[in-house]
Amino acid sequence: MLRTILIATTALLVVIIGAFWWLLLADSKAPAAAPGLFAIEDWRALMPEDAASLPTEIRVLEIGRDKAPGFAARAGAFGTDWNTTYHSIQIVWPERTMVIDGAIDADTAIAMKQSEADWAFDAPAYETLLAAMLAADQVLITHEHLDHVMAVARHPDPATLAPRLVLNAPQIATLPVFARGTLDPALADLAPRLDGTVQQIAPGVVIVPAPGHTPGSQLVFIRTQDGRETLLIGDVAWSLDAVETLTTRPVLTQYMIFDPNEDRTSVKAQLRALHDLTVSNPDLTVVPAHDGNLVAGLIADGHLIKGFRN
Ligand SMILES: [Zn+2]
Ligand SMILES: [Zn+2]
Repeated sequence: MLRTILIATTALLVVIIGAFWWLLLADSKAPAAAPGLFAIEDWRALMPEDAASLPTEIRVLEIGRDKAPGFAARAGAFGTDWNTTYHSIQIVWPERTMVIDGAIDADTAIAMKQSEADWAFDAPAYETLLAAMLAADQVLITHEHLDHVMAVARHPDPATLAPRLVLNAPQIATLPVFARGTLDPALADLAPRLDGTVQQIAPGVVIVPAPGHTPGSQLVFIRTQDGRETLLIGDVAWSLDAVETLTTRPVLTQYMIFDPNEDRTSVKAQLRALHDLTVSNPDLTVVPAHDGNLVAGLIADGHLIKGFRN
């Protein structure tokens, strides 16, 4: 009898440890190399010669924030917090602006809440974002997930917004999922204005396709007049330490959050390419969309400016 109990207990422990390992640690490390995946020389070659044509500022408008365990953003990061930010970016030239990402609206923020104590949604900031999109020449999203598209899919003035949208085909295809009711015809009939290649879409702004986290994921490479280079990576990583440690999200997130699943193989290769890019270009500032601590630091040192310009 005792022997049977011991065998059963051991088997149960093996199953529990195996499940823990598989869900929280397995299949999370980047490959040893990802040659040619992100060729920054090609992006730089598209930048204009005339520095005066480059943007002057990169601004960030936080719409919401939250807190979750660090191991949700990076496999194995037990005992740490992930201070999550939901924001939009405004790229500013003397005569024009561009907005990147549509963040979350109030309903989505509530539905995604992780921490009662640390959660916040800034309703006036969301109104500012809606207006800034209409004032911008171009509006883009890093990818088609719900926490990046709401101010697009649920914009109260879709007819005015539509001509400003510069989206790729997978991003356009998912907008109906996040509309309230039926997607407005102005947003339903959009033509893709990004073709899946590396493209300069404005002086100093280059779009780099990076399918993996979602089919429509892309990086935004920005050079400002002060010579600084910034790379918005959307959700390729949720925190910069995922890039630094070459470790992606745990498999658990595939089951709890993503539908459809990420292409983990592509994401892990992108982590390697981003890691190597930061090593060979130490002045490049890489910004994951939800790394609240990083963004706060970049605001503090003046790399990003807090709030949108009207
Ligand atoms: Zn996101
Ligand atoms: Zn995402």
